[in-house]
Amino acid sequence: MRLRAHTRRRGSPQAPGPGPQTPVMEFRGVGLTYPGPPPVTALRPCDLIVRRGEFVTVIGPSGSGKSTFLNVAGLLDAPTEGSYLLDGIDVAGAGEAARAALRGRHIGFVFQSFHLMPHRSALENVTLAMVYNRSGRADRTARARAALIRVGLGHRIDAVPTRLSGGERQRVAIARALVARPSLLLCDEPTGNLDTATAESVLALLDELHAEGMTVLVITHDPAVAAHGERTVAIRDGVLAEQPGRRARRALSREGVAE
Ligand code: ADP
Repeated sequence: MRLRAHTRRRGSPQAPGPGPQTPVMEFRGVGLTYPGPPPVTALRPCDLIVRRGEFVTVIGPSGSGKSTFLNVAGLLDAPTEGSYLLDGIDVAGAGEAARAALRGRHIGFVFQSFHLMPHRSALENVTLAMVYNRSGRADRTARARAALIRVGLGHRIDAVPTRLSGGERQRVAIARALVARPSLLLCDEPTGNLDTATAESVLALLDELHAEGMTVLVITHDPAVAAHGERTVAIRDGVLAEQPGRRARRALSREGVAE
């Protein structure tokens, strides 16, 4: 697990806002215990750093704590322990309204079941995601259109989700996640509802976005999906543990060490 001391530059002439070196996500002793009764510690206190431009996967079986991790990482739940720095902002103690605002600005979500508005076109689904954007309607529409073109859906902009395939729906969801220019693309089983070929094409899109500099965090139970990460973090019984990375695995296999 990578740890970095959090240093505040109080009084520094440069504003201590997030820079290229500021981790997108930093957990320091973050844990969550559901109060019960009986209390359940679903996420044991853990440290985790996700740096700008990384592609990290979190893998674990059912009941391991993946949803709890997602809810904390995505500011849907507040941790009961530790500090969480998102783009350098300590968000662990933020109330519900503050978490919602931070979520809208910093995180783009992609869910297994797409969560699109069924009676709105692809363009409307993406445009409506820019709730925190103060720019005019024409600008929002142009950005939504560009995001849909980026994910390969320039020809389906006016289609409603019921007229789109699963892969196309997930591309709309990815465009919606990207359009507010988040720091982190947080994906929960993004290929869980897709056939193998479509899943591959959605993962290839995530790989491309990562290659363009996006920070991607994918939560999955599927080792094939987890293999797309530069780094994989395993979660089991609420305990997070860094797995040897792809490069480390290659080095081990070159040395003839079985994985
Ligand atoms: P996963 O997403 O990997 O299936 P979860 O994060 O949903 O795992 O659950 C981790 C553990 O926390 C499980 O033992 C689960 O029963 C428990 N848990 C989840 N949500 C709650 C809750 N609201 N109250 C109490 N226990 C919970």
